[in-house]
Amino acid sequence: MTALLEVEDLRVAYGKIEAVKGVSFTVEQGEVTTLIGTNGAGKTTTLRTLSGLLRPTSGKVLFDGQAIDTVPAHRIVALGLAHSPEGRHIFPRMTIEENLLLGAFLRRDAAGIAADVDRACTLFPILAERRKQAAGTLSGGEQQMLAMGRALMSRPKLLMLDEPSMGLSPLMMQKIMATIVELKAAGTTILLVEQNAQAALSLSDRAYVMTTGKITLSGTGAELLHDESVRRQYLGED
Ligand code: ATP
Repeated sequence: MTALLEVEDLRVAYGKIEAVKGVSFTVEQGEVTTLIGTNGAGKTTTLRTLSGLLRPTSGKVLFDGQAIDTVPAHRIVALGLAHSPEGRHIFPRMTIEENLLLGAFLRRDAAGIAADVDRACTLFPILAERRKQAAGTLSGGEQQMLAMGRALMSRPKLLMLDEPSMGLSPLMMQKIMATIVELKAAGTTILLVEQNAQAALSLSDRAYVMTTGKITLSGTGAELLHDESVRRQYLGED
C-alpha cells in the first residue's frame, strides 16, 4: 500500500504557543483515517496546515509524493486535497447550488461540474430539494452536508472532514457516517477529525489519538475502539 499523505514531525505555532508539537502520521490510499483527541489537542490546526491555511514551523508534508508544506492553499486543492472545515463555512446568502459550484472553482469542465452537482444532490437529497434557496436557510446538519458536497466538487483524492457530526442529531450523524462509508467505497480517501470517537473509530481503517499537540496512540480503528485508555477517556466508560 502507498501512503497518499505522509506527515513527518510537523510543528505548528500561533506566535509563541506551539499547538502541534512534532506530529507524524500517514493516510493510506483508499482508507478512512481518523484523528481523535480532546478539545484543543491540535487536530484542527493540523488539518488547516495540511490544506495550506497555516504554515508549519518545521516538518514535512508529502501528498501523493509531493512536498506541499510551502505550496499555496489553492494549488493544494488543485493537487487533489479538499477540506470541509469545522463550523462549516458555507456562504449563507448564496444558493445551495452556488455554494456547490464554488467547490469547483478550479475546474473548467462544465459537463463534469454539472454531473458532480447532480452527484452531490443524489448523495444528499435535501440539497436537490433546496437547490435554488439561500444556503443560510438550511439547518446545521444540512449545512454540514453542503460543506461536504462542496469539498467533493473538486474531485479530491483526499477529503479532510473536520468534525462533520458536530451539533447534529443522532439521525443526521448516522447519515453523515453512512456517507463517509459510501465515499470510501467509491474510492475517496478520507482523513476525519471527530469528537464522536465511537462512530468514527467504528468506520476507520486507521486512527490516531492526539493529546496536547502530540500523537499518543495509534492503531486500527478496531484496536483503538477496544483500547482501555481510549474507552475511558473518549467513550465515557469507567
Ligand atoms: P477542538 O476539538 O476543540 O477544535 P482541536 O484539537 O481541533 O480542538 P485546535 O483548534 O487545533 O485543537 O487548537 C490547538 C491549540 O491551539 C489550542 O490550545 C487553541 O487554543 C490554540 N489555537 C487555535 N487557534 C488559535 C489561534 N488562531 N491563535 C492562537 N491559538 C490558537
